[in-house]
Amino acid sequence: MDSIIPEDRLEAVSLSSSERGRYARHLTIPDVGLEGQRRLKAARVLCVGAGGLGSPVAMYLAAAGIGRIGIVDFDEVDFTNLQRQILHGTSDVGRPKLDSAGDTLREINPEVQLDFYRERFTSETARRIAEPYDLIIDGTDNFQTRYLSNDLAVLTGKPNVYGSIFRFEGQVSVFAPKLGGPCYRCLFPEPPEPGMVPSCAEGGVIGVLPGIVGCLQANEAIKLILGLGDSLAGRLVHFDALRFRFREFHLRRDPQCPVCGENPTVTELIDYDAFCGVGRGETSTSETMLPEITVHDLKARMEDEADQFVLVDVREPNEAEICRLPDAILIPLGELADRLHELDRDSDIVIHCKGGVRSAKALELLLDNGFEKASHVAGGITAWSKEVDPSVPTY
Ligand code: ZN
Repeated sequence: MDSIIPEDRLEAVSLSSSERGRYARHLTIPDVGLEGQRRLKAARVLCVGAGGLGSPVAMYLAAAGIGRIGIVDFDEVDFTNLQRQILHGTSDVGRPKLDSAGDTLREINPEVQLDFYRERFTSETARRIAEPYDLIIDGTDNFQTRYLSNDLAVLTGKPNVYGSIFRFEGQVSVFAPKLGGPCYRCLFPEPPEPGMVPSCAEGGVIGVLPGIVGCLQANEAIKLILGLGDSLAGRLVHFDALRFRFREFHLRRDPQCPVCGENPTVTELIDYDAFCGVGRGETSTSETMLPEITVHDLKARMEDEADQFVLVDVREPNEAEICRLPDAILIPLGELADRLHELDRDSDIVIHCKGGVRSAKALELLLDNGFEKASHVAGGITAWSKEVDPSVPTY
């Protein structure tokens, strides 16, 4: 396959003697050589996210001598990130991820130009941020950014190297209709209902998995830049870490695809929060008019002995092992419909989950089934930890 790096950009790129030493093991690969290393130096790669996938992606791309690496991330390093986000260390907790990423990447390779975007990647910012880059690597863990990266990549003709991880399983592909493959929307035209697919924060992920999947993404990016081998465009690889099985699926482009199809209906970036049904999401369901209380209301009610109510936790048992609120009854959302008989329709029920999405779903279910005195806790146990009791761990 051809390199995605324009030939005219190569002419201005040469390697110093120090760089020739640094990349000696590349230069001795006949298919790479000096010209290939110049291609890597001429390349500009945008990495969306400096988290689990972004860590190995950025570290290996920097080590490989990619000339210019952009990273978008607005977050700070959290204690719960350290189990897998190897760009960041224990002393970085609380720092902007881009600051600790900068320290790590400059130590790996000071020859690389690093561009940092400490902002959200949204339909307002994405075009400007992605403009200078040859390809996009999606290292995020939410559907809004996944659809945004995909649509942006299709609309601008840049390949999108996709990776996703959950528990012991990962997926990787290259979505690049220009190179012949489908796009993410060809496979998944619509996002799942918000709250129905657990995120890594809710469902967990084994720490080494983003290392494996991120390395596969970095490898695909390097192949596209060097123009070597067969890219994953048109194929999706699923990795099952427990069974050690890689399975490959051949993907076909959907002629009806709303973004890369024959008659596209998405010709500009859209509002991805609205498309994915978030925003009325993590902390508030006020738009849907569900009765909700704040964590401060909940604390006041707990302290009022005359206030008799039943607190129901609709998270999974392993989440409850990390932290739970006193006297909460655990009924995971998926079991709630079959366990309604355990609750009294006349009692005052308060539901909570981790962030307020699943509790809103649970509340709708209770209201639909004649539980009239039910409400849920906005922001869930995460808000409780932040605003009421910091000794409750967040995850
Ligand atoms: Zn498509």
